[in-house]
Amino acid sequence: MSTSAQIGVTGLAVMGRNLARNFARNGYTVAVHNRTVAKTNALVEEFGHEGSFVAAETAKEFVAALERPRRLVIMVKAGEPTDAVIQEFAPLLEPGDMIIDGGNAHFADTRRRERELRGQGIHFVGTGVSGGEEGALNGPSIMPGGSPESYESLGPMLEKISAKAADGAPCVTHVGPDGAGHFVKMVHNGIEYADMQLIGEAYQLLRDVAGYSPSQIADIFRTWNTGRLDSYLIEITAEVLSHVDAATGKPFVDVVEDRAEQKGTGRWTVQIALDLGVPVSGIAEAVFARSLSGHADLRAASRGLAGPTAQQLDEVDAAAFADRVEQALYASKIVSYTQGFHEITAGSDEYDWNIDLGAVASIWRGGCIIRAAFLDRIRAAYDTRPDLPSLLSDDTFAQEIAAAQDDWREVLVAATRQGVPTPGFSAALAYYDALRAERLPAALTQGQRDFFGAHTYRRTDREGSFHTLWGDDR
Ligand code: NAP
Repeated sequence: MSTSAQIGVTGLAVMGRNLARNFARNGYTVAVHNRTVAKTNALVEEFGHEGSFVAAETAKEFVAALERPRRLVIMVKAGEPTDAVIQEFAPLLEPGDMIIDGGNAHFADTRRRERELRGQGIHFVGTGVSGGEEGALNGPSIMPGGSPESYESLGPMLEKISAKAADGAPCVTHVGPDGAGHFVKMVHNGIEYADMQLIGEAYQLLRDVAGYSPSQIADIFRTWNTGRLDSYLIEITAEVLSHVDAATGKPFVDVVEDRAEQKGTGRWTVQIALDLGVPVSGIAEAVFARSLSGHADLRAASRGLAGPTAQQLDEVDAAAFADRVEQALYASKIVSYTQGFHEITAGSDEYDWNIDLGAVASIWRGGCIIRAAFLDRIRAAYDTRPDLPSLLSDDTFAQEIAAAQDDWREVLVAATRQGVPTPGFSAALAYYDALRAERLPAALTQGQRDFFGAHTYRRTDREGSFHTLWGDDR
């Protein structure tokens, strides 16, 4: 076996296969390997004409095919399979070699693996890859962590295969050391959950309150996609809503079971936010909304509960209401991103990653599921002021929310009156109002805690901790 491949990919399911093809199409010689050899052979048979592949049947052959220092991409099921593959390959590698884990690993696992392999002189590069199978083939957004030295070697290759933003910038950057890349990918997915939930709520309001049909709503989303909401998720929402089920002739969205599934990265985003003490209420509501949708028995048992039924508006009011929903959606989206970037800041501080938030916004502009014109503006906000305390402290976003808020509130009044659940819109507005509040009821909470548990409180007018002797009448 020649030692000529500049990169190797092991794990040739949809993601690995397409990533290997992407490297090959960009002129790299790619060693390919899979536990089940048939998949390796199928890849070379089907796509061998696209570029230069070296098919390896065994781990030894695979490692021998790679030029030094070796760059070995793992694209297998996250969790134990990743550890199994690392254990198989690490003994065959030498100091200076790189293992790039492109799976959806938990960043804590990535930190552990990086630490363990560092002892052997191997660079472990936990790398977030977003964009699904299409992105893996044609250009994903790539979020590598690991050592700066590994990025020197890998960066140019990743830049070549990554998506390019509208201004031509590659959608990849060295996010930070050890687990920083997988952490940022996790938050990306959390924001994706929130974006999808907010779009879902906008759809439901346009359907139930404004009385539009799915195909009319698809047209509304198409119009929104030409404005400030321009994004991949809005674009595909219009496609899904205009799709007609071939078997029944009904709108596709009406024949799909309304139970949303999840693989876990949204849940991780919320779990870690709880650990870090970051209020990601919009992302949490999106995760809970999926979870609630899945409780079919509970929902069936609750269907008789009292409440209003949505009343549809006439056409003129419906058009005006649709404009309001756009404002509510946009304002809530700003809040979701504010919360997500807060979590990245907190993770970066906790683990000393020194993450450049403007660079993160920049690499999400292309290739990934949350790609959106809006991210250009987030990048500009952080480039202008890298120490921005929150996205809402940026003048442009603050002014946009100020302009949207009357409509945002009106939409929530309508949703509440008519009984349309809007947990994402509501959580976003509550977060916004809590941030702007002069005083929060947390003062009362502190009083209660001191009353029942002598937990003490701080005063507004004096330094120190205080406890009140509440009397003996408890
Ligand atoms: P997948 O279904 O998650 O994993 C299948 C691959 O893992 C196969 O190549 C399989 O080999 C291999 N594998 C499983 N257990 C193994 C073990 N114990 N030892 C060795 N190999 C093992 O594939 P995928 O959807 O292409 O995703 C790959 C990774 O990318 C995952 O971590 C996923 O979370 C992440 N990811 C996926 C997407 C997406 O849109 N699908 C997007 C971003 C990231 P065999 O063929 O031998 O079974």
